[in-house]
Amino acid sequence: MNEAWLVIPNPIKHRQVARVQAHMHYEENKKQAQELGFEFISQLVDSDIPDDLWVCDMACNSSIDATQPINLSCTIDDIDEVKREAKAGQQISGGYAMCGSCFQEMKNNYPEYFERKVICGCCRTEQDTESEVML
Ligand SMILES: [Zn+2]
Ligand SMILES: [Zn+2]
Repeated sequence: MNEAWLVIPNPIKHRQVARVQAHMHYEENKKQAQELGFEFISQLVDSDIPDDLWVCDMACNSSIDATQPINLSCTIDDIDEVKREAKAGQQISGGYAMCGSCFQEMKNNYPEYFERKVICGCCRTEQDTESEVML
């Protein structure tokens, strides 16, 4: 497990893709959970979280402007595999969203978290891909 830096270039599109996927797998996930004796709740299906509602997952809890790329801190097993998935256009999810000031603070305090960067595949543009190559 490695700490990594996940960039969501287009948070609104990202949430829409996640919602479509959540709907697609909803019945299957629900059945699986119920077989294991769990109550299944999908935040994206069962509650109507707006696409542009992003909140900092650090203690500050402030809302994040979803019209700009959002930075997340996450743990990843195999960075090369995740990068391949992202390049193939797959959604990379998980991790903790950071507002601008928490991001700066994390970068100052834990620079090693930011050595491995992944740009989400589902909502990136060609430009995002190129900026990754330049790193
Ligand atoms: Zn995405
Ligand atoms: Zn914050």
